[in-house]
Amino acid sequence: MNAPLRSWAGSLIALLLCAICWQAAVAAEQRKPHVTILATGGTIAGAAETGTQSGYKSGAVTIDAMLAAVPGIDKLAIVKGEQVANVGSQDMSFEILIKLAKRINELAPSADVDGFVITHGTDTMEESAYFLNLTVKTNKPVVMVGSMRPSTALSADGPLNLYNAVGVAADPKAKGRGVLVVMNDQIHGAHSLTKTSTTAVETFLSPLRGLIGVASYGKNDFYNTPPWKHTTQSEFDISNVTKLPRVDVVFADVDMPGDLIDCSVERGAKGIVIAGVGNGNMTKAAVDAASRAAQKGIVVVRSSRVPTGFVGRNVELDDDKLGFVASYELNPQKARVLLTLALLKQRSLSDIQNLYDLY
Ligand code: ASP
Repeated sequence: MNAPLRSWAGSLIALLLCAICWQAAVAAEQRKPHVTILATGGTIAGAAETGTQSGYKSGAVTIDAMLAAVPGIDKLAIVKGEQVANVGSQDMSFEILIKLAKRINELAPSADVDGFVITHGTDTMEESAYFLNLTVKTNKPVVMVGSMRPSTALSADGPLNLYNAVGVAADPKAKGRGVLVVMNDQIHGAHSLTKTSTTAVETFLSPLRGLIGVASYGKNDFYNTPPWKHTTQSEFDISNVTKLPRVDVVFADVDMPGDLIDCSVERGAKGIVIAGVGNGNMTKAAVDAASRAAQKGIVVVRSSRVPTGFVGRNVELDDDKLGFVASYELNPQKARVLLTLALLKQRSLSDIQNLYDLY
């Protein structure tokens, strides 16, 4: 072969190799899962003036800026972000949650969505996770994530939490386990997790049932599936709902007066959850007030202010006689979410009691 011919053949081979590499890159990109991030605010989107300042503003950073702080996230999935709200989760409302659930239900059937990540403050993450667990209608992973330190802090925990959350949302093994929360390398189920520390990065624990799995730099190990009904098996449908009935939580303590319960009734509550002492107990004055409420048709659920354990029926109080419901494993804030959704339709007390068993 003469020299010009050799160089022409060389160029052709190089061109062919380039085309093959390009095609392989396109195919690899096409195989990547698609994850949609719906942002709602919280400390993960919080900012302070300096890296060591303890005071900061929640929900100050947009989803695009958050994603820019997580190098390599595009290796896990093709990520798209949407801002649904930008609030500290102390200001999370049922209105925003209904909007969020409807948006997930709208996007979920698309072949361009393999999973969802919801960025959210940690303060009310557990009840939002549980609300979505009951109202989203998809088997695709829905993963909530937050952080304990604002985005500007020294050792901010948000970027790795977000990276791991996308890794879980992109993982087919996360399907069918209900809404998950990924924080601090741990994967929690919506039914069981609870916030336990006001400041520590390991704030979420699932004291009664343990973790669903662990997440480490985009690699996940799942070893648990929640036994309760959720998502596609859930009977709660918010597609035509814009407003939910009022349900209050009343905190029990030593010498608790009954008039807090009376006040709730006067303000139009359709349900009252007692954050009881011990096994859902309360003073005699409170039992009398709660029993008056129950006689008026207001649903009274006994839960507990104790962070772990089970509230059973007819233990120290005669629920059958008083017309009360026991929350079983749900803490007051989640017992309230379930009761709020249950009250969207007329149900007997025994039906409502049964929901605490099923969900
Ligand atoms: N107050 C913040 C929030 O819940 C705290 C956090 O995100 O950790 O939005």
